[in-house]
Amino acid sequence: MHDNTRTTSPDLLTPALNRRCALLGTLGLLALPATHAAAAAPAKSKQSHPAVWPHASQVPGGVARLSLGPGAKRPTAFAGDVPLLVMGDVIEWTALVGIPLAAKPGEASITVRAENGGSERQVAYTVTDKQYREQRLTVAPRTVDLSPEDEARYVRERDHQAGVMATLTDLRPDASLQMRVPVPGRRSSSFGLRRVFNGQSRNPHSGMDIAAGTGTPVLAPLPGRVIDTGDYFFNGGTVWLDHGGGLLTMYCHLSRVDVKVGDVLKTGEPLAAVGATGRVTGPHLHWGVMLNRAMVDPALFIQT
Ligand SMILES: [Zn+2]
Repeated sequence: MHDNTRTTSPDLLTPALNRRCALLGTLGLLALPATHAAAAAPAKSKQSHPAVWPHASQVPGGVARLSLGPGAKRPTAFAGDVPLLVMGDVIEWTALVGIPLAAKPGEASITVRAENGGSERQVAYTVTDKQYREQRLTVAPRTVDLSPEDEARYVRERDHQAGVMATLTDLRPDASLQMRVPVPGRRSSSFGLRRVFNGQSRNPHSGMDIAAGTGTPVLAPLPGRVIDTGDYFFNGGTVWLDHGGGLLTMYCHLSRVDVKVGDVLKTGEPLAAVGATGRVTGPHLHWGVMLNRAMVDPALFIQT
């Protein structure tokens, strides 16, 4: 699938990424306090902290969990100028950083501001390289070589989705970020695959495909609010949910949408039905998880 192929394209995300990368040259050279070095080290914390959600995976398309230490109030943190989700309590605050699929391996950093607005500091981490495999797919030619009308439609939809993806609301204070799988079915491990449609390279696959028949109910993986519904050129029938703190989820290729913008859902409530709309090879759910405007691997949020 397909969706992000351009609609949730890294094209839209590169400004923040470039700013982040631009910081690297200087910040990567800074000596880190021991606590930050320790926080950046456990790229393998998926193994060492299996009950922590999301799991840490400091690769393109993964999530970094960066300790910000103790503090009386929740600090604010940014990747470039994009606010980050900060979890925890006075004992230890943790910034969750969605790492874009287009991120370059190497040193990266976030900016942390104390709640009182006084001090500002950088916390560095390392993005480890990950080689995603290539996947070749055959789809309807009109979804690869777009007509002028379809190109114009795509551009309109891309701009609209950019606004949706910038949604930022408060996180519920008691939020657990462990997600329920939105539909039962075989889950592909196709996140991040470099996609070649009809022989032409396109953007990588930015979500998880779950095999399920047309009409299978899609259930909310966390409490959330519907922030967008539509029928888009690449993504087909689509719903976006906002879970707060810059954590969004998207559902694509739907045969039916059962919610409207503004609806508030509890975990497990149905929102739509699986389908084969948009650019697809057959019925399935495409499930995307976005953190600070980066599409990240949904597998980091679910029990596997
Ligand atoms: Zn997909």
